[in-house]
Amino acid sequence: MPYVDYAATQPMRQAAIDAWVDAAGCLNSGAQYASGRKARSVLDDARETIAQLLGCEPIEVIFTASGTESNNIAVQGLYNAGSTNRIVSTDIEHPAVREVVSALGKRGADVDLLPVGSDGHVSDLSALDTPADVIACMWANNETGTLQPVREICEHAQGPVHVDAVQVIGKLPVNFSELGATTLAASAHKFGGPRGIGLLLAKRTPAPQPLMLGGGQQRGIRPGTIDVASAAGLAAALKESCAEMEAENKRLGALRDRLRDGVLGSIDDVAVHTQEPALSSHVQFSFPGTDSDSLLLLLDQQGIEASAGSACSAGVQRISHVLEAMGASDEVARGALRFTLGRDTTDEDVEFILDKLPDIVKRARLV
Ligand code: PLP
Repeated sequence: MPYVDYAATQPMRQAAIDAWVDAAGCLNSGAQYASGRKARSVLDDARETIAQLLGCEPIEVIFTASGTESNNIAVQGLYNAGSTNRIVSTDIEHPAVREVVSALGKRGADVDLLPVGSDGHVSDLSALDTPADVIACMWANNETGTLQPVREICEHAQGPVHVDAVQVIGKLPVNFSELGATTLAASAHKFGGPRGIGLLLAKRTPAPQPLMLGGGQQRGIRPGTIDVASAAGLAAALKESCAEMEAENKRLGALRDRLRDGVLGSIDDVAVHTQEPALSSHVQFSFPGTDSDSLLLLLDQQGIEASAGSACSAGVQRISHVLEAMGASDEVARGALRFTLGRDTTDEDVEFILDKLPDIVKRARLV
């Protein structure tokens, strides 16, 4: 039964489970006795692996509880550390950035949002010409999979750049030091690591001000006793994802294209929101005349697990702010459906979806 919601989360990799289980007995990595040193050595190995794979220094690797937490620390913390009272972000951020920027705006920050074109890519960087305390931009959009010009943003920004790379880590090569960002957020469960652990890469300076105060662990940016087992699981998942990256991108890109072309060839009146450059794993459509909830229900009845792409709270569907920013009409945005493929997705899964979807859309259009 096809699981095609890999952008939401993915099953833990066996390598991550094994590393997690091996380290599950670790005690406090900050303690000055043998069992503390043992935990610290496991943690140091995880940091070293991550630093090598992501092109940063081990000291720049900070463990958090989620991508959401990493984004909160970076955006609020850099704003609090700055002096211009200005934030630049984009129209299409994940709520973990968007809501933070909006809350800071309500508290008096001057906020400028970079617009996107109808192809889902940030289209105008002129707001970068004025200094800001933090410039926050995602690398790949979680709904459409479109890649954003983060390198260009890092080059032009006059102030520290935070990159939300939650959808990109493990899928595309990332070199933090070459990128030139000040901070970068990632989340282990998006690349087959444990849920409940995130990463914040943070240059030595300027450092975000901490949101929590405590024992001073992790340069004081994220104090608290570290979950060594989850850090080991994260590192193992990252290692495997990076090793498979090139082959998986080719394989998933071919499957995704087959899915997109098959849908376009068998269903009338379809909008494709995923425009290149984009992640090879993503394709988001809209089927005007339907609504996402009905589509998801009918797909679920056939054992197909997908998503609309945007957040949906307590069954009340909101129009996606991303599709809105791309200029989609309400009718188009209401019928959005996102398929995100991953390491267990097969040709058969794609053919199964292509076999079922025309009838599902037909039925959803009758509701
Ligand atoms: N940023 C992006 C782009 C995401 O896709 C997500 C999760 O969907 C997050 C942040 C939040 O990550 P987490 O679920 O680890 O809090």
